[in-house]
Amino acid sequence: MEIVIDPKSGFCFGVKRAIEMAEAEVKKNKTLYCLGEIVHNAEEVTRMQQLGIRFIDRDTFLTLSDCKVLFRAHGEPPETYLHAREKNIEILDATCPVVLKLQDRVRAAQLENPNTRVVIFGKPDHPEVIGLKGQVENPVIVQTLSDVEQLNLDQPISFFAQTTSDKQVYAQMMACLRQRIKETGLPNDFFTSYDSICGQVANRGPWLAGFSKTVDSLIFVGGKNSSNSKVLFEVCRQHNANAYFITRASELAELPLSLAGRVGISGATSTPSWLIEEVAERLRELERL
Ligand code: SF4
Repeated sequence: MEIVIDPKSGFCFGVKRAIEMAEAEVKKNKTLYCLGEIVHNAEEVTRMQQLGIRFIDRDTFLTLSDCKVLFRAHGEPPETYLHAREKNIEILDATCPVVLKLQDRVRAAQLENPNTRVVIFGKPDHPEVIGLKGQVENPVIVQTLSDVEQLNLDQPISFFAQTTSDKQVYAQMMACLRQRIKETGLPNDFFTSYDSICGQVANRGPWLAGFSKTVDSLIFVGGKNSSNSKVLFEVCRQHNANAYFITRASELAELPLSLAGRVGISGATSTPSWLIEEVAERLRELERL
């Protein structure tokens, strides 16, 4: 068996940065709260809890005062910053620079033209989308092409996407809007769109499709609650009939996996490199048995 670790696996730079900020802080200051899970990966969250980081939900955050709280890479709406100021909560802001830039653009779209309706392609309850929604008045969230087909065209539209959205679906939505605007006889500048999908996510799919074909079987390591993991595993499955999804190394023993040929290991942008290495080590142990 030859084990091949995907050279592009591991955290995206936004999550890596947030985790490094949390690690550095908890070394200096024993109590650090983090609002929400720092990454959609239970193994990494457990590791961070062992370092002393306390993960809290929004309700708990609202009860805190005079402490330090990390805002993760997904970003927060303005009301979260306001609450922190009022309760003397020091913020360690790990919002990803890509998300911050997107929040700025969303705000600017409505500031420049108050009559503009901001439309965001994303999941309404995703933390990044909650952060984006809070930047403007009355944004509309769309999840499917049919949502876009039903959009009211009574106001100019500024169209954005959650950074982890599907690029192809976003392109279809933009094409649909352009067509509807043309058919209605509205001016071309009635609709403005922004390429707000993060390259760190968008490029991982095509790369994984290629990587999956170079190995005989593929172990994909991801979080059960990570939508990015589910999408990327589907890509692997389409290009390699022997692709398996696991969340931790101990699950390897249950797989109908042949320990022969080239065995690839990869993961989502939320899968830590140490977990990928642990899976590789367990594979080597299984081969020795
Ligand atoms: S996926 Fe992109 S936007 Fe999201 S945290 Fe990672 S680097 Fe930032």
